[in-house]
Amino acid sequence: MVETHGATLANLVAGLGPMVANRFFDEEGIEVADWVPLQKILALLARVGEELGDDALFKIGQSVPATGQFAEGTHTVIRALGSIDVAYHRNHRKDGVEMFTNGRLVDGIGYYICIGEGPRCCILDSASLYPCAFDLGLVTALARKHAPKAEVEHLDSARCRRRGCAACTYLVVW
Ligand SMILES: [Zn+2]
Repeated sequence: MVETHGATLANLVAGLGPMVANRFFDEEGIEVADWVPLQKILALLARVGEELGDDALFKIGQSVPATGQFAEGTHTVIRALGSIDVAYHRNHRKDGVEMFTNGRLVDGIGYYICIGEGPRCCILDSASLYPCAFDLGLVTALARKHAPKAEVEHLDSARCRRRGCAACTYLVVW
């Protein structure tokens, strides 16, 4: 079983507000714990998307960098974006084992990868299990932490995980 770090619950509270978040926790049977079943979190996010829309998912994703799940020492946008994949794996575990262990990533939850970069831009592919709008919020907030005017655009929007494609491509410019 894959689990996600309990800090995710704080992101849900930050993005939805405590009242709404707690209602979803109750309805999805999610209890506050150090680790939470990933499937329950994904089911909750799917419901948030259906009932509250992309803006709510964006806000939840936006709160991820603020809760300190990213390694220190990522002082540039490019390094921060490059660190998402390790942070993502570090915040999940499979059968009780962290999915970033001894410097190695364990497969099973997709990936975030920079597929191109320039002096002030980066093209990032996400094949994570999280919704596209959530990832857009995460990437936007993380980029703006290091470059406040950073903008993120979904490239080739016909090719999106919400349409069943394997990955979404984001252009980050700052
Ligand atoms: Zn997408």
